[in-house]
Amino acid sequence: MIVAMQEKATEEQIDAVINAMEEAGVDVHRTTGEFQTILAGVGATAGLDLTKFEMLPGVLHVHRISAPYKLAGRAWRPEGTVIEFPTGAKIGGQQVAIIAGPCAVENREQIFQIAACVKAAGGGFLRGGAYKPRSSPYSFQGLGIPGLELMREAATANDLAVVSEVMEIAQIEPMLPYVDCFQVGARNMQNFNLLRELGQVRKPILLKRGIAATVEELLLSSEYILSGGNYEVLLCERGIRTYETSTRNTMDIAAIPVIKKLSHLPVVGDPSHGTGRRDMVPAMAKAAVAAGADALLIEIHPNADKAVSDAAQTMYLDQFEKLVGELRVLAQAVGRTL
Ligand code: PEP
Ligand code: MN
Repeated sequence: MIVAMQEKATEEQIDAVINAMEEAGVDVHRTTGEFQTILAGVGATAGLDLTKFEMLPGVLHVHRISAPYKLAGRAWRPEGTVIEFPTGAKIGGQQVAIIAGPCAVENREQIFQIAACVKAAGGGFLRGGAYKPRSSPYSFQGLGIPGLELMREAATANDLAVVSEVMEIAQIEPMLPYVDCFQVGARNMQNFNLLRELGQVRKPILLKRGIAATVEELLLSSEYILSGGNYEVLLCERGIRTYETSTRNTMDIAAIPVIKKLSHLPVVGDPSHGTGRRDMVPAMAKAAVAAGADALLIEIHPNADKAVSDAAQTMYLDQFEKLVGELRVLAQAVGRTL
């Protein structure tokens, strides 16, 4: 259930409504917007008489949430969620954020060169894998903690936030000192135990859409994180598997406006995994921004052809710089900045 408070509702009135909801046996999640406080009641609300809550002082209106996801739905935060990082960079506001880096952190020189490039291009986020989910067990699996140490150092030197993939619960704790945002990869979108545990973390989570997941399944997966009280989730469209074979995945651009309509969570477009080909990344990056993405995730590497993973989709640094310049012009045309 959603309880929207009146603009002038007092803290006392809000507390009284929260108490009444908790007494009725529902978990209350509060959001305080610029004008209005909205309370989401999650749990066994089916048998509740909602008029009882509508009568409480300070309440504007009460309604049931028909969608299976409750906290991910836009009704709870109609203005949209803006996530702020320790560097001051934000995702979800007017500005389109750039999250870029290598598929995998490989060595010191590589990650420092990339971090400097991301910074120079005006990006705010350095992303690289230290734990890599590879289709083959014989492929490079990532540097682990030493890779995270290098990335943290390179990011801090360039005032960038760090995004890196977590693959299992046991990695959360050791990763905490190094990352500003945990990525959950496509293969783990429905690892519900991992998602629940990330709901206890107080750092943002970039949740990628599974290769065969619907938008509703993506939103339900985010609900596992949100219901733990971690309200900072980014939803990433990275392409889905279809019968089309000319690209690595089929980038579902339409999913971006669909998610923006259904949810308050910021949306990230990943044209690198979405196409699997560096020559197609610019077109899909632009399409994602035009479609309303709040951030782009782009794989880059100084020796893109020699990257240890995802080489074919990884852009050279000069290509990336050129692309960001073009995106800056495009962003303005669709009422955003970059
Ligand atoms: C990645 O981001 O490098 C990655 C492995 O992505 P995905 O989980 O989308 O395949
Ligand atoms: Mn990759």
